[in-house]
Amino acid sequence: MDKELKLINVNKKYKMSNKETFQALYDINVEFDKGELVSIVGESGSGKSTLMNLIGGLDSDYTGSIIAGGENLSKLSEKELDKYRKNKVGFVFQSFNLISHLSILDNVTLALTLSNVGEKEKIERATDILKRVGLENQLKKKPTQLSGGQKQRVAIARALINDPEIIIADEPTGALDSGTSMQILEILKEIADSGKLVIMVTHSEKVASISSRVVEISDGRIVDDKINKNYKRNKNAEFKLQEEIPETTTESVSKKNKKSKNSKDKQNLSMWSAIRLSFHNMWASRVKNFLMAFGVAIGIGSLILMMSFSSGITDYINNTMKSYSNPTIVTISKKGSGDISSMMMPNFFNDGEKETLIENINAYLSENNCDFQVTEDNVTEGFSMMTVATGAKVYYSPSGDYFQSKDDPEADYVSLSIIYLYSTPPYYSDSNVIEGEMGTSTGGFMFSKGISSLFEDGSAVGKEVEISFTFKTSQSDPGTVIEKQDTICGIMDTSVMSNFLVMYVDYDYIQSIFEEKGVGDHFAPTSLYIQTPSETVTNAINDYLATTEGYTGSIEDQLAGMFNSMSSIIGTSLVVISCISLFVSAMMILVVLYMSVTERTKEIGVLKSIGARRKDIKRIFTSESFLVGVLSGIFGIIFNLILTLTVWLVLTYTIGLAPISYRWWYFAIALGVSIVISMLAGLYPASKAAKLDPVESLRRE
Ligand code: ADP
Ligand code: MG
Repeated sequence: MDKELKLINVNKKYKMSNKETFQALYDINVEFDKGELVSIVGESGSGKSTLMNLIGGLDSDYTGSIIAGGENLSKLSEKELDKYRKNKVGFVFQSFNLISHLSILDNVTLALTLSNVGEKEKIERATDILKRVGLENQLKKKPTQLSGGQKQRVAIARALINDPEIIIADEPTGALDSGTSMQILEILKEIADSGKLVIMVTHSEKVASISSRVVEISDGRIVDDKINKNYKRNKNAEFKLQEEIPETTTESVSKKNKKSKNSKDKQNLSMWSAIRLSFHNMWASRVKNFLMAFGVAIGIGSLILMMSFSSGITDYINNTMKSYSNPTIVTISKKGSGDISSMMMPNFFNDGEKETLIENINAYLSENNCDFQVTEDNVTEGFSMMTVATGAKVYYSPSGDYFQSKDDPEADYVSLSIIYLYSTPPYYSDSNVIEGEMGTSTGGFMFSKGISSLFEDGSAVGKEVEISFTFKTSQSDPGTVIEKQDTICGIMDTSVMSNFLVMYVDYDYIQSIFEEKGVGDHFAPTSLYIQTPSETVTNAINDYLATTEGYTGSIEDQLAGMFNSMSSIIGTSLVVISCISLFVSAMMILVVLYMSVTERTKEIGVLKSIGARRKDIKRIFTSESFLVGVLSGIFGIIFNLILTLTVWLVLTYTIGLAPISYRWWYFAIALGVSIVISMLAGLYPASKAAKLDPVESLRRE
């Protein structure tokens, strides 16, 4: 029968940084068999650990062949080599290399976790094996709570958990006193006697003398190989795991087979186990992690605050605008009437345009199952135009006693940079009149507060005035100057327009003024007001208008749109600023996770030695950044609630207005953003961890 382990012409060269190589092993030809307890001896630096790493499948950069259990290691793929380490070979190290944040039980079951073995079976097998090394009462303890000898027993239990054929122990007693060393040796002997191959490196002659065979290495060559004839094999040794744990094992094997058809991943580390492992680790360095999460939370919290500020301002503006318009009146303005592009030249509804528009609206309403049709009776006409300073002066008598015309030597005037001339919208009522009363179809001008305050005594009401503005029928038209004398009958509360210079005049009255000046032929409505039965219909018509090119809503709607785009620009800038702070957070996460990889190289080496694939290591670190993201997101939301409450209180008590509106999905976005940046920041550390050379990481002290 073939020997368990064969090395044929094995040469190992280390590549040094400066292209030079160092040969650590020369032409190793040796065979080992089951049941042997081999001591490898030799001076420090002779190549013992190098040999162990080759046999253990941790290092595959060599020439020659290593055949273990009939398999040629040099021909195995990376995946198969991972499996070899997981199932065929067990490592025991001088410095134990237990993972300090995991309990004894979890340390031992780690290899099973990597194979996704069920919880119950895992615990049964680990308990059984820990009982054999005399540690059945220490399952819940952490490695730091154990003595050196106990730690090494845990390490042996960990090496045995997958029932490997070969146990490799690199100076297993190097860190132990001689009494404890003998106990460990007894355990190793029993393992060998039960039919496994145990190869250990030792410096102790006493240890060597107890083993069944001593191989001496010097300067990379085997210089001596002796069988110990006095070795007493304990024929009754039974260290093997209970060959078959009757029910659970068979059951879980058949289950595994069934499942593995659906998913190859079933026998590997599950996402859930990875999260559990990283949770343990995060808990172990909780202060660091909590501080980091808090740092990120500040960014996340301010992001939510900025978003809710931005929507708060928008909501505030929209609500203010809404309170000035009637929900059952739709205002339709021709685009370009009453805005800067059409100063002095209103954009009138053409012949037939009104009828076509109404037809289209009606078609849209029926299509959208609105039980309403617009008729002539629902429609009121309106007018608006914008004129400029030169043509828009308001002459008046400062004393208020008499006023004939602007040529009157006593006349004074208010010069206005811009004036809007509006017909009174049908949704304005007496409640919009601050002072005086509304004008009628036969006369009366109404001013906004903005104009009224320009008068010397602070009010325009009752004053006899003459307004003067220019009207053009086309861009090339030099313009007709329209002058009209009348009394200011009222001051209007004109919402956002209050501080603009606005004059309201009844629609029919405006028409008669145009006619008086001989330009009545050019006069037509520039806006239409449709009375609707409900807000639903209003919204439907507005939806239709949004699809057209040439029409907009009321001045309030237009201003609201303008303010909204302004506030969304401000909001976007605020969000961009918080994103910069999130970028800083991401860098912080990257640094912390990167440091965590550096701190845990040993652990990564151990994981690799028990068969973790690169993918598994990546998964553990990725789950860690995922957890950091979740934690930071939750902290961020809590931080935001505190921050918002503070800001809200301060604003309410100082300016009496706190424009903050939450949308529920802001929290979802915050959590998502937090997870995404953490995981992005974790990509590099995770791949760095996955790429770590296990030999290098285990060598580090
Ligand atoms: P031992 O375990 O017998 O003390 P090692 O197997 O650790 O010896 O090392 C054998 C030789 O290989 C030593 O001279 C050591 O300096 C060298 N060596 C080990 N690892 C490396 C490496 N990564 N790069 C270069 N030389 C190495
Ligand atoms: Mg060594």
